[in-house]
Amino acid sequence: MNVADSDMLAQALFAKGYYSASTSSDADLIVVNTCSVRERAEIRAKARIKEYVNHRRKSHAAQEIWVIGCMAQRLGQSLRNEIPGIDRVIGAKDIVPFAQEMDGVLLAGASDTGGEKFPGKLNAFVPIMRGCNNVCSYCVVPLVRGEEQSIPAISIENTVRSLVDTGLKEVTLLGQNVNSYHDGSTDLAGLLEKIQAIPGLARIRFTTSHPKDCTDALLQTIGRYPKLCKHIHLPVQSGSTRILEKMNRKYTRETYLQRIDAIRRILPNADITTDVMTGFPTESDEDFSDTVSLFKQVHFTAAFMFAYSKRDGTVAAALNDDVPVDVKKERLARLIDLQTAITKDHYSSMVGKDLEVLFLERQRGGEKLWTGQDNGCKRSVLSCNENIAGMILRVRALHSSGMTLITERI
Ligand code: SAH
Ligand code: SF4
Repeated sequence: MNVADSDMLAQALFAKGYYSASTSSDADLIVVNTCSVRERAEIRAKARIKEYVNHRRKSHAAQEIWVIGCMAQRLGQSLRNEIPGIDRVIGAKDIVPFAQEMDGVLLAGASDTGGEKFPGKLNAFVPIMRGCNNVCSYCVVPLVRGEEQSIPAISIENTVRSLVDTGLKEVTLLGQNVNSYHDGSTDLAGLLEKIQAIPGLARIRFTTSHPKDCTDALLQTIGRYPKLCKHIHLPVQSGSTRILEKMNRKYTRETYLQRIDAIRRILPNADITTDVMTGFPTESDEDFSDTVSLFKQVHFTAAFMFAYSKRDGTVAAALNDDVPVDVKKERLARLIDLQTAITKDHYSSMVGKDLEVLFLERQRGGEKLWTGQDNGCKRSVLSCNENIAGMILRVRALHSSGMTLITERI
């Protein structure tokens, strides 16, 4: 979501005559987009902002520093007292209206006739909804991004069409709980049907699905259209029903596993990925072993794994954060080890098989090495002298380097 917001602001700035600086020292304007989801994200954002402020002080550069996003929303103008030198604070809820009405913020030297064209992208994130109506007890997102609002399908279609005109091949439709998308007449399945009909667009992804709302009908729609990628990101958060209840996730271990069965039945080759947390208040060894056994049972292709971090203002903040930091970390490390082995299994089971990969970019540091993703979420590289950016090629997996498939053209 932050990448999408950054792109949107960048696009608005380009329209005002700005263009990308090659380094932060060369920039007339630095915009730091921030995340609040875990404490660490905020600590890192603050450290980065301080670096920019200090550098500007030393170099006496005529430079503006803006802080936007969820931390800006959460802390507001108090951030300017905490880190003197920030010129503007724009919260996550205000970025869209701000980008639409940026008159009066032009810096000297910029012109609103528009400078360079905003560079087209091969893949982009497009929000289909903002905010979230769930109240997962650990989560700060509803507090900083507000109530759920679905963006009208027609407006999403127009955005995607105009991005396709500038070269877009793959779109990821974004929302905190995309399964509850509804603009009054179109639901998520309907929206996916409309977007997949856009000529020139090769692939459509979406995230994040909520286990309580991910229906068979939606899975069947994904199965029906080749452009819809066979990848379901279904955050589980914990394998213990007791903890899930405390998290207010509104599903149990059993109903989650039923959703996994439905995905395997309706989309047999789909990649399934997840998010999980260790050390939620009161998590016992037994609760954690439920998470471990669920990971062994589901065999996710990949997972984002985090240690629980207490966030002010959330329901869980009132609970005693009683799992010691070392225990949280130790559980996290064990889960990461387990999932890394499972991910490697998935990749090695692909060796010798053919896949269709959309190649998006050259690998950093490797002139001829192109990276891309298959129709699920597996990363592939291909050595190729031609420019294959934006092409879907049939390739064969020769071997796996753990979390990447090394492929050849067939
Ligand atoms: N809307 C999405 C994701 C929101 S945040 C969903 O419902 O899944 C992304 C991930 O960050 C979450 O899935 C969760 O695993 C993690 N997360 C959120 N709050 C957290 C917290 N307080 N501590 C640790 N991880 C957290
Ligand atoms: Fe947070 Fe839950 Fe909403 Fe996801 S669904 S953003 S975890 S409240």
